[in-house]
Amino acid sequence: MADDPLQLDPSIAALIPLTGQSGDASQQSAPPISFQDLSQFLPQRQQQGQQTQQTAQSGQMPSIISMPAEQGFTPGRGKNQIQGIVLHSTDGTEKSDVRTLRGLDPQHQVSANYYVTRDGRIYQFVNDQDTAWHAGQTIDNSRYGNSATLGIEQEHIDGKQDWPKPQVEAAAALVANLRAKYNLGQDQVYAHSQIAPERKQDPVNYPWGDFNQSVIQKLSPAPRQLAQTQSSGNPAWQDLSSLLSR
Ligand SMILES: [Zn+2]
Repeated sequence: MADDPLQLDPSIAALIPLTGQSGDASQQSAPPISFQDLSQFLPQRQQQGQQTQQTAQSGQMPSIISMPAEQGFTPGRGKNQIQGIVLHSTDGTEKSDVRTLRGLDPQHQVSANYYVTRDGRIYQFVNDQDTAWHAGQTIDNSRYGNSATLGIEQEHIDGKQDWPKPQVEAAAALVANLRAKYNLGQDQVYAHSQIAPERKQDPVNYPWGDFNQSVIQKLSPAPRQLAQTQSSGNPAWQDLSSLLSR
């Protein structure tokens, strides 16, 4: 594919006026901040930090059905660590997908960290810290391969089905949570077709625009959520207290 759907970023562009409202990107070099300024400063910091240092939003993680794979994955990640998320489509349906992605199909030794059904339920088969066999050979395995990425499979018959909203929303909620958890940017969420372009086309016909917009929405802290995260050890809050003591 010539186009990289993840780079289009119409929704990031829509964010620019939001963060631009403050117009104070140079705030860090400004004189010490008084305590009274702080309450106004905090929400801005959170918005600006979205792309580099997200904070997990409480209440956004959908419930996950844990069904550990018995084989077809590698414990641990070797010397690698989580550097990205790869989205797939299975070209299959739930019952057989679940069996296959838990490593139980002797014909296909594959697995996935997560699986999202068409009605928006999420399974976890392989722990985040273990290596699911989802990506195969990629253009750079140290960066995009199994040991470097979380694999999210999605129930979808390639070329024959649509992408129902509950499924896209569930995947977006999962990705938003994982991005916050592992401090991953939007440019670290890949289509399988991007990282293995000569072999793979999935996720086929994926609605990247809706998906990306939903992820960004879920990563944007609402005022009420801000209040919750502040009182529960939000890292941004701790950064701020060190700013105060300067
Ligand atoms: Zn795939």
